[in-house]
Amino acid sequence: MERGALAGGSAAAEVAGPAPTAALAEEERESCAGLWELPVERCERRPECGRCGRPQKVCLCPFLPVHPLKVSTCLYIIQHPAEESRVLRTVPLLVACLPPDKCKVLIGRRFSEDRYPELAAVCRNPSTLILYPGAEATNLEEIALMPSSPSVMIIIDGTWSQAKDIFYKNSLFRLPKQVQLKTNISSQYVIRTQPTNTCLSTLECAAVALTIMEKNKSIQETILRPLQALCSFQLQHGAQIHHSKEHLLKNGLYDKPMPKNKRKLRRMELLMVTAVQDCGKISTVPVRPVTKLCSFRSLKILCFVFR
Ligand SMILES: [Zn+2]
Repeated sequence: MERGALAGGSAAAEVAGPAPTAALAEEERESCAGLWELPVERCERRPECGRCGRPQKVCLCPFLPVHPLKVSTCLYIIQHPAEESRVLRTVPLLVACLPPDKCKVLIGRRFSEDRYPELAAVCRNPSTLILYPGAEATNLEEIALMPSSPSVMIIIDGTWSQAKDIFYKNSLFRLPKQVQLKTNISSQYVIRTQPTNTCLSTLECAAVALTIMEKNKSIQETILRPLQALCSFQLQHGAQIHHSKEHLLKNGLYDKPMPKNKRKLRRMELLMVTAVQDCGKISTVPVRPVTKLCSFRSLKILCFVFR
């Protein structure tokens, strides 16, 4: 009965004229008719510099070393696929500072022994380190003091959760010795919000790690120069300095809603305690912080607070 009634209703509408939705669609087509003929500006990506990866107009090559740095340590950057598409990436600058055989970037989430035999061999090599914080991680400076310094370091480039996912879901990455950085230097990547003043971007972590492993302080200065130029340029063109979450909390300027997730809230509480204590007990490692709930977007950093 009901189906018959509905069908009848529909038929009546057709007889009476076009249905309201059809009439609206027709109206819309008419109002847009002129727009379709307008010339369309093709959305093309700005041409990029082949060396630094920045748009050609803002090429950072003048700030890169003339010749790649001579280093004996080889870096493997394990980059989450989401990092590749970010506008302000720091890894291309790192790559441009080092010889091609000393900085290899592998993009992906899962790295199996079958698909990445070279990486698997690297992970099994006792002279390989992985930069990832944790209770098991040794301070890199202690390792560098050993007579036979390791020669390969793996760094994960991604947000906190991306890095964690990559580290824990790829058994290969738990084979190398785990290390972390313990430094008080402040991040110079001021155009991204960071959890604490001492959390570093991937580029900065690599610069600090190489300086320690190569026992050469000028490395850090050379690798950070293009980053300083990038930030300076962005600030001159309207970018704002992003204070760290730690700074905002310490100065009562944090105006974002606190996370509802208990684990994230705990992390924020730890950050606040640290901010209040202002005792510099924060270690730095590459990764990124808590994002969505705190509205803290992107950084290639991970903050690890010692308890
Ligand atoms: Zn360039």
